Amino acid sequence: RRRAVLAESSGPGRTADGVAVSLLLNAGEGDPDEAGAHDSEGIGLLRTEFLFLDRAEPPTVAEQTESYTNLFRAFEGRTVTVRTLDAGSDKPLAFADTGEEDNPALGVRGFRTARVHPNLLSDQLTAIAAATKACEGTRVRVMAPMVSTPAETEEFATLARSAGITEVGVMVEVPAAALLADRLLSRVDFVSIGTNDLAQYTMAADRTLGSLPDLLDPWQPALLSLIGQVGSAGQRAERSVGVCGEAAADPLLALVLVGLGVTSLSAAPPALPAVRFALARHTEEECRALASLALNAETPAHARESVRKAAHAEV
Ligand code: PEP
Ligand code: MG
Repeated sequence: RRRAVLAESSGPGRTADGVAVSLLLNAGEGDPDEAGAHDSEGIGLLRTEFLFLDRAEPPTVAEQTESYTNLFRAFEGRTVTVRTLDAGSDKPLAFADTGEEDNPALGVRGFRTARVHPNLLSDQLTAIAAATKACEGTRVRVMAPMVSTPAETEEFATLARSAGITEVGVMVEVPAAALLADRLLSRVDFVSIGTNDLAQYTMAADRTLGSLPDLLDPWQPALLSLIGQVGSAGQRAERSVGVCGEAAADPLLALVLVGLGVTSLSAAPPALPAVRFALARHTEEECRALASLALNAETPAHARESVRKAAHAEV
């Protein structure tokens, strides 16, 4: 029994009936070897801002190539999903000034920064492509943050592929992107849902405020409904749909996400064993039933409670 429990909390993610759900890490600043030592199938979100923040000038292509290469080496045989620079709003950069904005969360941020500073993105893509070439044993995927339209998706995919990146994706962090997920997925290889921003923009509630936690609760049925639309689009297109926001760290919610069609979960390292364990205890069919309970709940608290009760009854 003990051995069974240990097996359920290590190795690749699987539901009780053997459906693969990749369990990945959110990573950023820090020692690549330390990140690589965690039991994970790779990185689902590399926040590259750490290379850019607190600097007067952007890092050079050579400097970036070296950092990415060190990281990719530490993940040989695994996947690394690099998110291109997510500047602006809650992550302002001295050298990527986008002008005075009254509402920076609705302003020139994420992929939109490339409208004003195109070289920041093209240099970054050049460096990622060079590092990918130097580490052939690592599967490198690249995605853009804060993409809202199929046209932006197309634009990013063209830029990334012409820089030499083979696996290209976008983040779904804006309701507009979730609503047209089919069209986004026809232009890229994968999408990854950032539930922190998707909650903020779905509920019109600033994620940096501490005063609206109920609205930002990832169990909000409206948020889950949008995630479900993206999951279904992923199944139709047979492309992978990840979640890399905080929602993926909650083992009960992870079951719901899988039931909504999500195929990979990325969270901070300490969260992964409990998520892996929860998945191993439930079949895909059970996850679907839990998702339907959550979607039909009136409030986040009811959603969580009904899923908790049903999930425990199943074990
Ligand atoms: C998100 O928005 O959910 C996300 C993963 O990105 P960040 O938290 O870095 O904005
Ligand atoms: Mg985000």
